[in-house]
Amino acid sequence: MRTPLIRSHLSIETGHDVLLKLEMLQPVGSFKIRGAAYAISQLSDEQKKSGVACYSTGNHGRAVAYAARLNGIRATVCLSRLVPAAKVDAIEALGAEVKRVGESQDEAETEVRRLVQEYGMVSIPPFDDEHVIAGQSTVGIEILEQCPDAETIVLPVSGGGLLGGVAIVAKAVNPHIRIVGAAMENGSAMAASLQAGRPVRVREEPTLADSLGGGIGDDNKLTLELCREFADEFVLLSEEEILRGMSSLLFDDNLLVEGASAVGHGAILAGKLEVSGPTVILLTGRNVAPDQVRRIATG
Ligand SMILES: *Cc1c(COP(=O)(O)O)cnc(C)c1O
Repeated sequence: MRTPLIRSHLSIETGHDVLLKLEMLQPVGSFKIRGAAYAISQLSDEQKKSGVACYSTGNHGRAVAYAARLNGIRATVCLSRLVPAAKVDAIEALGAEVKRVGESQDEAETEVRRLVQEYGMVSIPPFDDEHVIAGQSTVGIEILEQCPDAETIVLPVSGGGLLGGVAIVAKAVNPHIRIVGAAMENGSAMAASLQAGRPVRVREEPTLADSLGGGIGDDNKLTLELCREFADEFVLLSEEEILRGMSSLLFDDNLLVEGASAVGHGAILAGKLEVSGPTVILLTGRNVAPDQVRRIATG
């Protein structure tokens, strides 16, 4: 779906256009449908018969389950026990088989590798894949059509497929556009890997931005390089700052988004991101657990 771009109340506070790209309005509640649908559309008939498997912090699994169902393909989604129950239920409701494995994304990834080897299923990776990145890049094309004078694009980063795809198209159209990645202080594997100059593992911690958890893969082939080349800035937020972003989106912009989506707002409110011209913030997902909604709504 082509999602709307609307003005945030932050435009008044900052004195510049701060625009929100409402990707959380996609079917399945996140932009992940773009990459999953495109990757599945590229499978051969034989691959479609074998079924698809993926690991996920929740939203990619939901997108794969949805796209697989529309195409009449069998899907198995491997999830660690850190994935919130609401996301697990939503994936099962789409008819996919869910496997709960281990305490981290890395363990879920190992299970996918086993399914590929033993049963010949086709893996649909969450970010480090040409087709998935190409799918995510379509949101970048839309942003530049809707706001040709965008100076800055702010997006949350986990594995970096979204930033990579959006940055490729945005910098091709306007080499001077500023790309800002944002994530949580608690366990951003991409931030640690950028600093180390190679993929590193970090301890996964509970965070409001649960969709941004997980590693980038020990043998990352595309997204670390893309983030190194294209992320002009990388901002890290405390849980407090993410919460403030979520509250501001809920109470000031009347938008309910998950923690992963609130890092752009959080960064501006925390003074960690300078707004110097038209700025587009990507709101990536709205799959918030009901108990979290209650806690945020009551402060
Ligand atoms: C997956 C996800 C991200 C990060 O996307 P990557 O391509 O893994 O960097 C951000 N926000 C939400 C809601 C997501 O589900």
